[in-house]
Amino acid sequence: MIVVMKTGATSAQIDNVIARIEQFGCRAHVSQGVEHTIVGIIGNDRPIDREQLERMDGVERTVPILRPFKLASREFHPQDTLVEVNGLTIGGQEIVVMAGPCAVESRSQLLETAHAVKEAGAQVLRGGAFKPRTSPYSFQGLGEKGLQLLAEAREATGLLIVTEVMEPQTVPLVTTYADILQVGARNMQNYALLHAVGEAMRPVLLKRGMMSTIEELLMSAEYVLSHGNERVILCERGIRTFEQYTRNTLDIAAVPLLKQLSHLPVLVDPSHGTGKWELVEATARAAVAAGADGLIIEVHPRPEEALSDGAQSLKPARFAALMQSLRPIAAAVGRRLTLPEAVPTLAACASRL
Ligand code: PEP
Ligand code: MN
Repeated sequence: MIVVMKTGATSAQIDNVIARIEQFGCRAHVSQGVEHTIVGIIGNDRPIDREQLERMDGVERTVPILRPFKLASREFHPQDTLVEVNGLTIGGQEIVVMAGPCAVESRSQLLETAHAVKEAGAQVLRGGAFKPRTSPYSFQGLGEKGLQLLAEAREATGLLIVTEVMEPQTVPLVTTYADILQVGARNMQNYALLHAVGEAMRPVLLKRGMMSTIEELLMSAEYVLSHGNERVILCERGIRTFEQYTRNTLDIAAVPLLKQLSHLPVLVDPSHGTGKWELVEATARAAVAAGADGLIIEVHPRPEEALSDGAQSLKPARFAALMQSLRPIAAAVGRRLTLPEAVPTLAACASRL
């Protein structure tokens, strides 16, 4: 349930409402809107006397939240959440692009990619140091060495770092290096991990499980939020369907739907969403047109040599061309994509494709 305060309710009136909620044995979560302050009630398994709350000074009305996710719901927090990460805002007007290799493979591979995506206008460098691979015989990532290389790339380029954490025990280690903790599709319902990243002082990029519903994604976000970590970014990365021509089926409708159901920022991963580099550009553009707050895209300087996901990785020139093509689309839907001044022209990108 939420308590909607009247316009101009005083802080004393809000404090009284919080105190009453706590007397009910619940927690209060205050969300300051432009017109109204909303006090959310968390942990109310028992019915609450709505009338008692509605009689309190400064209270306009109470509204039950019928959805199973509360903190993640739009009712609970009507304004869009802006996730602030070391000077970068995710969920605001600016489209945020995270790009880089699937896996950190070597110093030269990572630095070359980092410089290229930075020049093209990405703000965050992606790269897995711990890789969740289908086969135990496939490259599993460089582990801590990979994290060190990511930190070196951040130092060299000023890009922020997003990287996957797979187990609760490694959350402290990954947190020392990463600006954003990625929870991968395979771990979206790893509740021990969700508890651990909920306790971490880092934003969490939560990817939709390949067999998960939108409600399940939002329930997983709820786990993280319930620990007090409010910096959760949702990511649509495709789900498994009967279709065989693509690796996954990218659910574009998930973008406006998630924005309707939740206040959290929504990113789209067209690389895992399609599995084919040839489809990445069109689906990235569709994602921005559909209202995504950003993208996470795999880029590799030599995809044919990549140790993982080469087939869905863009070459740097193609990525740079994509970034430029996104700009008018962002503008058409009332968003902005700021590119560096010295960005290569579209024609120059095209000549390097
Ligand atoms: C990744 O981003 O490299 C990754 C493994 O993604 P997902 O968890 O969506 O499969
Ligand atoms: Mn990958």
